[in-house]
Amino acid sequence: MTPHHKNLFSLNKLSYIKGGKPNVDCILCAIVAKHKDIVNLLVAEGMDTAVCVNKYPYNSGHILIFPKRHITDYRDLSSGERREMDGLLAKSLDVLESLYSPAGYNAGFNMGDSAGASIQHLHVHVIPRYRNELGFIDIVGGAKIIVEDPSITMKKLREAFRGFSMK
Ligand SMILES: [Zn+2]
Repeated sequence: MTPHHKNLFSLNKLSYIKGGKPNVDCILCAIVAKHKDIVNLLVAEGMDTAVCVNKYPYNSGHILIFPKRHITDYRDLSSGERREMDGLLAKSLDVLESLYSPAGYNAGFNMGDSAGASIQHLHVHVIPRYRNELGFIDIVGGAKIIVEDPSITMKKLREAFRGFSMK
């Protein structure tokens, strides 16, 4: 982990604490169950898997793709769940491309405490990367990364995913 990433991560932790940790066992299970105390962050849903925006995005368009079933290890995914997550990942990349035209993506699992997984429920992060994001000149110039408000991202993504079916 580079110092830059470590810094981003602790910012994320900080806002998590500031926002008050919701009183549920698992945030992703609560989102799937549409728990009344939880902001519904879902943007797309299949039979067994779902996509939501990250409430504390590292970058504009940061989403999570996850199985609805509470599992913590990639190896516990059923072949059906794996296939569906794969389809949702491909569709998500299309949607993000149409909305944000990023220069690239980081996509990956954080598994286990040491990997910085603050949510135990298995999920894939998909983080669009932009050409003009925080470079040396920006740092010298004192610029900050401008990350879109996740509630706006959510509206855009829901619209873009509308009518999409995993079947
Ligand atoms: Zn869960």
